[in-house]
Amino acid sequence: MKTKRINFKNYSSFKIGGEIEVALLEDNFSKIDDYYLIGSCNNTLVGTNPPKLMMLSKKYDYIKIEDNLLKIGGATPSGKIASFCKKHDIANFELLSHLPGKLGGLVFMNAGLKEFEIFNHLVFIKTTSGIKLKKDILFGYRGTDIVEPILEASFELIAGYDKERVTMFKKMRDNQPSTPSAGSCFKNPKGDYAGRLIEAVGLKGVMQGNMCFSQKHANFLVNHGNGIFDDAIYLIKEAQKRVFSKFNIWLECEIVVLDERFMSEESPLIKRD
Ligand SMILES: Cc1cc2nc3c(=O)[nH]c(=O)nc-3n(C[C@H](O)[C@H](O)[C@H](O)COP(=O)(O)OP(=O)(O)OC[C@H]3O[C@@H](n4cnc5c(N)ncnc54)[C@H](O)[C@@H]3O)c2cc1C
Repeated sequence: MKTKRINFKNYSSFKIGGEIEVALLEDNFSKIDDYYLIGSCNNTLVGTNPPKLMMLSKKYDYIKIEDNLLKIGGATPSGKIASFCKKHDIANFELLSHLPGKLGGLVFMNAGLKEFEIFNHLVFIKTTSGIKLKKDILFGYRGTDIVEPILEASFELIAGYDKERVTMFKKMRDNQPSTPSAGSCFKNPKGDYAGRLIEAVGLKGVMQGNMCFSQKHANFLVNHGNGIFDDAIYLIKEAQKRVFSKFNIWLECEIVVLDERFMSEESPLIKRD
C-alpha cells in the first residue's frame, strides 16, 4: 500500500499526536486486517503507542446523484457534503455544516445532534466486503456494528435544504467550547448527562498539564495548547473512577483512543464486572 506521513498534532481535532506513516487504502483490500482505519480524527485521541494506521485514499472523496439516491464516498468531508446539499437543494444533511468528520467516520459513529442522526436517511453502505442494507446493520446512540471499512454510503434523495435548521444546529453549539477537543468525551449514560456527572465529582475546569474538562461544557476534554496524551488519559481515567465511586455509573468513552495499551479488552478504560 502507498503511505502518507501525517502529523497528528495538526491533523487531529485534539491537536495531539506525533508523526506517523499512514497506509492509503485504495482498491487492494487483501492486507488490511493489521491496520486501524481513521477518518479525519475528529473523534480520536492518538497515543504514543498507536497501532498501524490506514485511511481511505482521495479516490473515495466524491458525491454523486445516481438511481435517485445521494451516493457519498467514505473519504468525503462533512463540510463538502453540506455545501453540495445546499447548492442542490437537498434536505437532511444540514447538521453536517456543524459536525466535523468524513463520511465513513460519521456513518461508523452514527454521528448526530439530538434526534438528527446520520442513519436517519441512510439506505445502504458499500464496504470492502460488499453492500450492506440499513436493516442489516445494528446502530444506536453513537455506535454501529460495522466492522469493515465503509467505502460509500447511499442516502434518500429528498428535496428541500432548510436554512433554519443550519441556524438551529449552530445555536446548539453555543454552549460548547471552540478550544481543540474531540467533541463529547463520554457517551451520556441512560437518563443522565456525562457533563453533569463530571462536574459533580469536581473535575470541571481542573487542569492536568494543559488538558482539562472544559469550563464551558464539562463533557468536552479540551487542549489548551501543547496538551499531551498522558494528561488526557489521566483525566479520562480520573473521571471514570470518581463518577463510578460516587454514582455507581461507568462513563463509557465516546472518543476512540488510538494506543495499543488502551484498545484491547484489557484496557483500563473499559469496565469489567
Ligand atoms: C468540536 C467537535 C464537536 C463534535 N460534535 C459532535 C456531535 O455533536 N455529535 C457527534 O456525533 N459527534 C461529534 N463530534 C465527533 C465527530 O465529529 C464524529 O464522531 C465524526 O463522526 C468523526 O468522524 P471522523 O472522520 O473524524 O472519524 P475518526 O475520528 O477518524 O474515527 C472515528 C471512528 O470511525 C471509524 N471510521 C473512520 N472512517 C471509517 C470508515 N471509512 N469506515 C469505517 N469506520 C471508519 C474509525 O475507525 C474510528 O473508530 C464532534 C467533534 C468535534 C471535534
